Amino acid sequence: MSIEREVVARSSYAAIELYAPDRRPCAIDVSDNTNLWGAPPSVARAFEQSASASVTRYPELYAGSLKQALADYVGVSVEQVVTGCGSDDVLDSTLRAFADAGDTVAIPDPSFAAVPIFARMNSLTPALVPLTNTYDVDAERMLEANARIIYLCSPNNPTGTALSRAAIEAIVERAPGLVIIDEAYVEFSGGSVADLLSRSDRVLITRTMSKAFGLAGLRIGYAAGAPALVREVEKSRGPYKVNAIAERAAVSALREDMPWVRAKVEAAVENRERFIAALRELGLDTLPSQANFVLVPVPQAMRAASELRSRGVAVRPFERLTAAPGTALASTGGDALRITIGPWDVLSTVLGALSEVLSCRV
Ligand SMILES: *Cc1c(COP(=O)(O)O)cnc(C)c1O
Repeated sequence: MSIEREVVARSSYAAIELYAPDRRPCAIDVSDNTNLWGAPPSVARAFEQSASASVTRYPELYAGSLKQALADYVGVSVEQVVTGCGSDDVLDSTLRAFADAGDTVAIPDPSFAAVPIFARMNSLTPALVPLTNTYDVDAERMLEANARIIYLCSPNNPTGTALSRAAIEAIVERAPGLVIIDEAYVEFSGGSVADLLSRSDRVLITRTMSKAFGLAGLRIGYAAGAPALVREVEKSRGPYKVNAIAERAAVSALREDMPWVRAKVEAAVENRERFIAALRELGLDTLPSQANFVLVPVPQAMRAASELRSRGVAVRPFERLTAAPGTALASTGGDALRITIGPWDVLSTVLGALSEVLSCRV
């Protein structure tokens, strides 16, 4: 006799959907903020050498060689670095390490959409705090949430705007618990706040090799913070999260390809300003960006994105983002397109498609 019983997931999972952005291949894909110039040149060589290396043994437990290369890059000691399978993994592990079920995580809104999901995955409660009318973090309201963990992202995804140093400092000084500062796009910005690490042992700065370093497919993320914080994140993360081949390629990029990375970052910043000026000529406002993407408020973003896709251009649409009254984002009801900055021939095709799609509307 068989008894049918339902297998039930953790209760917080009922509110979580599988991540499913439109990833169908498209002639031009400016939807995901990766490096559209490609991967650093030494990485192909690292792969060839890896091909003959043995994959029968486990990789390093906590990616020690990669941690050393990252420590040198960031300018901290190796005990201050933790790696992960993408910075997504580092963020998820950090939330799990520093909060108990039922605790609150304060998150600006809009910001990186994965973070409220990681909070729920770990049975934490996300408290969303709207950005100000200058797209800055509202320090007072973030602190009022009295959260066990505060998450900040600068430059912020999807707005592209950098948070003000003053607001970040106010939060770091007065936060009751851990402050995570996500610097996934720091290479494209005016500067890092990594110097705060020497002033506070409650700050963890997360970064990634998926954006400026062109290695999204290898899944390499990391964080820097006080050794005591990093140790807890490593416990939560667990061993063997960075595979041996990815680790080798990432170390090679950090040791040999910095001139390539810097040149592509410089090109991205230059093309970003040129693209923003060209959009303005089309009558489109953008948010001021410090990242390798721009957020362009347009009404009915979903429809605009599907019309662009039918012209061979994939962008990332957002619907009804939270927007402070009077902002460009509010003027479209919070609808906007996020467009990755790449080589100019790519952007020029995007501009052509955008002008067709938007002129059809008037
Ligand atoms: C892309 C992105 C990440 C995730 O990077 P991975 O290292 O690829 O997991 C983290 N934070 C922000 C804000 C991002 O935009």
